[in-house]
Amino acid sequence: MHHECPECTRLWSEYALATRHYLKLERRLATAELSHNQAVIDELRPLLKSAFDERSEIRRLIDRHESQSQAGSAGA
Ligand SMILES: [Zn+2]
Repeated sequence: MHHECPECTRLWSEYALATRHYLKLERRLATAELSHNQAVIDELRPLLKSAFDERSEIRRLIDRHESQSQAGSAGA
């Protein structure tokens, strides 16, 4: 863990936001599926996909940032 690293703080808050966004869409999709609302399902599917991709991308940035920080502090 990094203490007082602004980049970590920024990335993790973006990740939390993306997760909330994704879960909200997922709930809406589940509701639409329960009521067989095909129009809403079709509308939500691509949104859910891009929310998922966005979340994965932020997670990837976090992993990369953390491995770079570790490499930097290891000094070898
Ligand atoms: Zn950091």
